[in-house]
Amino acid sequence: MKPKILIVEDEEQLAQAIALYLRNAGFLTEIALDGQTALEAVQKEPPDLIVLDLMLPKVDGWEVCHRIRKDSQIPIIMLTARVGEPARIQGLELGADDYLEKPFSLRELVARIQAVLRRSAKAAPRHLVNGALVVDVEKREVRYGHKQIDLTRSEFDLLVTLMQHPGRVFSRLQLLEAIQGTTADSFDRAIDSHIKNLRKKIEPDPKHPQLILTVYGVGYRFRKPPEGGQE
Ligand code: CA
Repeated sequence: MKPKILIVEDEEQLAQAIALYLRNAGFLTEIALDGQTALEAVQKEPPDLIVLDLMLPKVDGWEVCHRIRKDSQIPIIMLTARVGEPARIQGLELGADDYLEKPFSLRELVARIQAVLRRSAKAAPRHLVNGALVVDVEKREVRYGHKQIDLTRSEFDLLVTLMQHPGRVFSRLQLLEAIQGTTADSFDRAIDSHIKNLRKKIEPDPKHPQLILTVYGVGYRFRKPPEGGQE
């Protein structure tokens, strides 16, 4: 599925130019013109990577980075003015994954984004755990407590996509792309029937789902892990 990039940049023309270039390079994009809006956007629907300008109105880039790092490892690439070593080091210390000095080429930005996304994918956990539900991504095995659960290929891919981003809302189209990379006319119903089958297999009470939640009019999201970790 296409990675979503949040572009945080107060110069609107530059933000639009970056967004257009990234969309052409195969990414989904969202723009935030100030730090406060950026933090709200991350809360609402966490992106896969953030391109973060440092000089921003309301909440500056340092503060945005600091607050995001408090509870998230979303990769961040900082955009800095021509600054010296100290500012760069400060950015990396705050948890930025990379930085790019302005002015930069959009091609360079795309290359950096791809490199950072590749690194973070490698660091992704082999096991996804949410309460009693445990997914071994490499072996493609699913357990609920001690019970082994057999899933079809589509169901497994759907489940992994949802569990990799607990709380994030996926439209049916995004989910369909995640499992087959193409679009189809009856995609809403195709996803609905996969979700229904998946629920029958992993939900204690499929009629009242606790794990895969419906977001009416949009799609689905996986529940956030219960407080205190594993049950
Ligand atoms: Ca700026």
